[in-house]
Amino acid sequence: MSDLITKQYDIVHVSTGDMLREAVRNETEVGLKAQDYMNKGLLVPDEIIHDIIVERLSQDDMKNGFLFDGYPRTKVQAEDLDSILKQLGKKLDAVINLNIEDEVLFKRITGRRICKTCGEIYNIYNKAPKVEDVCDKCGAPLTQRKDDNAESLKTRLEAYHQSTQPVIEYYGAFGIVKDVNADQAIDKVFEEVQEVIGGLE
Ligand code: AMP
Repeated sequence: MSDLITKQYDIVHVSTGDMLREAVRNETEVGLKAQDYMNKGLLVPDEIIHDIIVERLSQDDMKNGFLFDGYPRTKVQAEDLDSILKQLGKKLDAVINLNIEDEVLFKRITGRRICKTCGEIYNIYNKAPKVEDVCDKCGAPLTQRKDDNAESLKTRLEAYHQSTQPVIEYYGAFGIVKDVNADQAIDKVFEEVQEVIGGLE
């Protein structure tokens, strides 16, 4: 979904999850600190997220707009983002809340398979590759994220309900939360997102 949005509106995709996974791969200081939390499905401490966001926002490509994905995940991060954006003279136009039941999400996440070579995403339940664990597009082997297993996902969902749902309430008070039904085909979800974005002033 993020890729569809950022391509359509020519804005930058800022996923703290992607940034952290890259840091883990490169064994940077941030990566080494974050990896245990991530593998268990726990949230990475707010101070680490603050540092990577400040660094990312200082880069030139952020000027034309951006889509945060998986951030802010706690009320502390949301308040921190407010003050960072204020200093930069920027503001959030909308918060897109993709609604889906935990049980449906469970299947989507545990069934997810990723091609690291071309980025194509599959799901063994509803978008299986023609040959098991092989990318239809480029023939590379498919992988599964370390935290896309049932145990980590249970922890991730608990973290979501405990720490991230309050973020929706926080932004709700500013009147910028836009609810989208994510339990439908991806093109339908994208249509709803486009309606939301089209309706922004
Ligand atoms: P994601 O790719 O967004 O599902 O994130 C994968 C994992 O990275 C999460 O389960 C957390 O461990 C960590 N993570 C990503 N973004 C954040 C964030 N904004 N705050 C805390 N932890 C995060």
